[in-house]
Amino acid sequence: MMTRHTSKTNRKSRHGTYEWATKTVNCCTGCSHDCRYCYAKIMALRFKQVTPGQWHQERVRPKDIRRRHKKYDGQVMFPSSHDISPGNLEACLRVLDNLLKTGNRVLIVSKPHLECVKAICEKFASFKDLILFRFTIGARDDEILAFWEANAPAYVERRASLQHAFGEGFATSVSVEPMLDSGGIDALICDLSPCVTHSIWVGTMNHLGRLEKHADAVLQEAIEAVRVGQSDEIIKAIYRRYKNDPMIRWKKEIKKVVGIPISKQNGLDK
Ligand code: SF4
Repeated sequence: MMTRHTSKTNRKSRHGTYEWATKTVNCCTGCSHDCRYCYAKIMALRFKQVTPGQWHQERVRPKDIRRRHKKYDGQVMFPSSHDISPGNLEACLRVLDNLLKTGNRVLIVSKPHLECVKAICEKFASFKDLILFRFTIGARDDEILAFWEANAPAYVERRASLQHAFGEGFATSVSVEPMLDSGGIDALICDLSPCVTHSIWVGTMNHLGRLEKHADAVLQEAIEAVRVGQSDEIIKAIYRRYKNDPMIRWKKEIKKVVGIPISKQNGLDK
């Protein structure tokens, strides 16, 4: 994920998923990772696709698995409003098969389970040139990861997934969005970059006000820590340290803070 995974409701925007892709494909409602900041969950609740407490149950949508995909213009992101987990792996492999067989370039975004990444690498070894993995890893600290992304894999598994895809010769990328521990970002980049061939994206946690609405004291404290960690001053300092590193890319909210123009076209910031 996600990186911040988003729903089709922001399909027209030039940020979020559309900085990376011209089309998003999904086959599931709900996500077992159940991240506290999940925007897809907020949207699913708003549009009554799930009830509160139901989001962690993954409901595979048979129609979306059977769907035959044409060859789309530009890069396709899969998934964007759920993740790939051991529970929906078979369904996700079928969707990927449909997309790749028609020649689509696919950006696979995930908080990766090693078992799933191994299965994808094995099944689609002959489509290597069409696949870019982007693994969301917002911190190295497992306590922080477990707080925000309750059921997603721990750091060591995400790192092992990245290493595996890299070792198998796939193009690899990391999304540090949302950045959950800005104080640890240098160590994170240093640790992961040897297995990254493409890019490391850095982005903030957004919609903090919305998160605060129903926050208890513990969540409120964690939100405050994130807010402090992504203050303009800290973002500018991170930017100064990495602005000349071609591997590091900046999501829209950071571009706004440091004064980088934002692309007017979807899918250009790959
Ligand atoms: S991994 Fe799942 S719960 Fe977490 S942000 Fe992505 S879609 Fe939402």
